Amino acid sequence: MKHNRKCPKCESEEILKIPGPATVGKTKNVISKGFLSRANIDRYVCSICGFTEEWIAKANDLVDLKKKYGKIEDLDEFV
Ligand SMILES: [Zn+2]
Repeated sequence: MKHNRKCPKCESEEILKIPGPATVGKTKNVISKGFLSRANIDRYVCSICGFTEEWIAKANDLVDLKKKYGKIEDLDEFV
């Protein structure tokens, strides 16, 4: 939805962008990168069916998140 502005579930083009760090319930739309450091998450919502996608807002944050959380190597984590 971020790139083609179209819902993959219902094919609607009525897409909303909720930029991070928007408050969602009792939390903000962020992921911790470390002490006092956060990566904002942009949320794309289909206003017809409610399907939602989330994207890290800034590409540079992906580097920090990869350092902090690492790549999943053990497939047993999915079981
Ligand atoms: Zn939809």
